[in-house]
Amino acid sequence: MTIHIVLLGPPGAGKGTQAARITQRYDIPHLSTGDILRSAIRSGSELGKQVQDYVTRGELAPVALVVDCIRERVSCDDARRGFVLDGFPRTIAQAETLDGLMRGCDMVLGAAIELATDDASLLCRIIGRAREAAAAGQAVRADDTEESLKVRLAAFHKQTAPLRGYYEQAGIFRSVDGLADVE
Ligand code: AMP
Repeated sequence: MTIHIVLLGPPGAGKGTQAARITQRYDIPHLSTGDILRSAIRSGSELGKQVQDYVTRGELAPVALVVDCIRERVSCDDARRGFVLDGFPRTIAQAETLDGLMRGCDMVLGAAIELATDDASLLCRIIGRAREAAAAGQAVRADDTEESLKVRLAAFHKQTAPLRGYYEQAGIFRSVDGLADVE
């Protein structure tokens, strides 16, 4: 059995949390472009230097850089059995790129699952997440500030929300309540 899933939803909707659960349950990799880019920034790699300012401001990073990361991971052997994509695609153009990549590997996307939420709840969640991390002495994400969050939410509504229609047309769109409890 192969399971290829895309998780959709604004920042703070819980994509990372649900992706981790799906990963555990089905033993497939969790591919998060945000995680890949943050680790590139931490390591000081060329990719990290190129995306750092975009990520900190909350803007989308240049598409070619992100697509390169995904191409590398999607062609990995462990992605043959499936994957959960979190944070990619974020635009229709990225969704088309993903379709092309998957077609080239004889993979079929099974579902695009949206975690539906509202902006006010997200703001509370993310600011809360940053406070908790700071209180626990953990690193706080550079883009978990109110200012960046507004940019990230605006980018979501403008660039990512149209993916709903894209995947509805493909017949694989599902929406679940992102404000319900994790279980
Ligand atoms: P995330 O952890 O998914 O919220 O992503 C954090 C940041 O990484 C975003 O605000 C963007 O700056 C960048 N990023 C992640 N995924 C993408 C993507 N698919 N396209 C462009 N930028 C991305």
